[in-house]
Amino acid sequence: MRSHLRLTQIAILFALFALTPLRWTCAESDDATTARTANVREIIEHLASEDFAGRRGVDARRAAEYLAAEFEKLDLKPVFDNESYLQPVPGPPGEQNESTIAGWNVTGRYTHPEARFPEEYVIIAAHHDHLGRTASDIYFGADDNASGVAMVLEAARLITSSDNVINRSILFVSFDLEEHLLFGSRWWTAHAPVTLEQVKFIIVADMLGRSLGDLPLETVFLFGAEHGAGVRESIRKIDFGPAAKPTLLSDDFVGLRSDYGPFRDREIPFLFASTGQSRDYHTPQDTADKIDFKQVAEITTGLTELLVDVANRSEPPRWILDPPVEMGEVKAIEEICEQIRRKAEAWNLTPVQRFFVDQASTHARKILRQKEITPADQAWLTRTTQLLLFSVF
Ligand SMILES: [Zn+2]
Repeated sequence: MRSHLRLTQIAILFALFALTPLRWTCAESDDATTARTANVREIIEHLASEDFAGRRGVDARRAAEYLAAEFEKLDLKPVFDNESYLQPVPGPPGEQNESTIAGWNVTGRYTHPEARFPEEYVIIAAHHDHLGRTASDIYFGADDNASGVAMVLEAARLITSSDNVINRSILFVSFDLEEHLLFGSRWWTAHAPVTLEQVKFIIVADMLGRSLGDLPLETVFLFGAEHGAGVRESIRKIDFGPAAKPTLLSDDFVGLRSDYGPFRDREIPFLFASTGQSRDYHTPQDTADKIDFKQVAEITTGLTELLVDVANRSEPPRWILDPPVEMGEVKAIEEICEQIRRKAEAWNLTPVQRFFVDQASTHARKILRQKEITPADQAWLTRTTQLLLFSVF
């Protein structure tokens, strides 16, 4: 009996072990609310391919047409004249003073048939243009910003393939000419397909596939949530996955960085999502083979969940003009500095970078100990965050 029993136990154990690794290996669930790594990979590799030659001018237009075709496949509704997804952005007059077109914004609309507030809109957006090519190089722009465009397309797939009721209409937008002083989003807000009063919230993503200075920070920076009542609380309820823990920071800390600017200027609640500038930022080395596709997928799932959460609120987020800086932001700066200090050796940080990180960490700890943020501290936080995120690395 016993030997027979032991055999059965072994068989059961074996079956268990046989099963467990399999389930773990395919960790990415296939439900309708989870972005697929394979999808974002396909989109990024396509847009950051030689074929699109860095997506500037006519090549940016081809990227816009690719997006319009994908929007049509997802049955999003066109919103511009002549039933078009494309909005021409005028350029300077030509030699004969003829009108010219500098770029093409792309927009598609989704309204659930049972939406309670179909005339109110939330937007999810990115920019599809980049720096183009030179005689010798192509600026592929895999992270900047094929990764953001992949997020918008995959979010559209998730939302249009779900049966869940969504109470406000959603606009999926890709701007052109972001690399030209945000001219595409400035034109879009000045010639919007709906009145801006109807726009209640916008998420803009720019660079989701790498990390700040290529440091293994496992975080996605989320700026500007402080200007929308309740948006931070919504973010804290969402699991962005192990690769992209949200770091909430005030947008004042980064100044104007991407296409959320024209919406912020009109006091429309917004969120700017970015994993930070890699060391290949704005170089021909920003290629698809360096993208963390799983990270992009995880962030896409989180941002889509946030967009739907805001779309289903009874009241849309109210604009907060002068939100206080939260201690959580100081904590975030301190944590980032700590992660960088731990990796200083491995990442060959220069003496200046080490000194800067040490200073930032010490000051952040001082603020955390005093449990209050003075105006001088706030000024320091602004300077430090800008340096940390956009120049030291
Ligand atoms: Zn960009």
